[in-house]
Amino acid sequence: MSANLPEFNLVKPSSIAEALAAFRDQPHAKFCAGGTDLIPNMRHGLFEVETLIDLGQIVGFDAVTINGADIELGAGISLSKLVGRADIRERFPAIVKACEKVAGLSHREAATLGGNLCLETRCLYYNQSEWWRKSNDYCLKYQGDICHVAPRGNRCRAAFCGDLAPAFMVHRAEVELVSLNGARRLPLADLYVEDGAAHLALQPGEILASVHLPAARARSTYGKICQRGAIDFPQAGVAVSCRKEAGVLQFELAFTGTNSKPILLEYREPLGPKTDADSYFEALEKQVQKSVSPQRTTTTAPHYRRLAVAALAVRLARGLV
Ligand code: SF4
Repeated sequence: MSANLPEFNLVKPSSIAEALAAFRDQPHAKFCAGGTDLIPNMRHGLFEVETLIDLGQIVGFDAVTINGADIELGAGISLSKLVGRADIRERFPAIVKACEKVAGLSHREAATLGGNLCLETRCLYYNQSEWWRKSNDYCLKYQGDICHVAPRGNRCRAAFCGDLAPAFMVHRAEVELVSLNGARRLPLADLYVEDGAAHLALQPGEILASVHLPAARARSTYGKICQRGAIDFPQAGVAVSCRKEAGVLQFELAFTGTNSKPILLEYREPLGPKTDADSYFEALEKQVQKSVSPQRTTTTAPHYRRLAVAALAVRLARGLV
């Protein structure tokens, strides 16, 4: 059941500097770009917002800059524009595949790269209507005292379910964060923290401004398992990249939907012409199973998701050989 959107103030800065200044003046404000995740969550009363700072009007926030073999993507670029870029499709296929698996066409027109990377975590006991959550005494993440997923634990296990993060991680992307204190750049994997209630390493007032992709040196792909095949968040999503060095193959894998942050697995075992491929992929499958920690955050059993994500990882990796 969808509730009415609560009232809020809307600020529309035309530059990042104006957006940062707006946050300084209203430190409880939230930044918003496409709003495809934030607005439904506001409707469900998942947090309180007095002021939204709309980054969608910022000039150049969706710019794409080519620096030699590197590509810098403005965080405001829409997923449909990413899908439409021939250079991204050719050099970073996992990214386009991941974009194409996010929601439907109209959502991808509005949804942005930065928004998807900063997607709120999800849980069966949290992404519900107000009356549903109230009837369960809410939960540890917001307004309640107990985590219904892990009642003896003291942290939220809600799962990060963004499709794009793993695809960018296997291509070793970095993010640029800006605030009134300046700019900093970090590997995308370092943007995330294993805590479903606070899974982003963003400081208050910090904006994810852009994403840097280094020269593509690997082939890649992305796939996901979801309950509804057409439009859904991943129960588990897998990005795989495969690079060939000195005649042997090496894989990097990243997972979404299994933990409170996307998980990167740099698999250092080489696959050469004399390697027994079946044994190799059996070992890879076991390693994936050990790397992820699905919890009871969806209606699908955690053990099934652990096995499914590993099986999908192997299927995708084999497809890149
Ligand atoms: Fe709430 Fe626990 Fe779910 Fe977090 S994992 S949203 S605390 S029920």
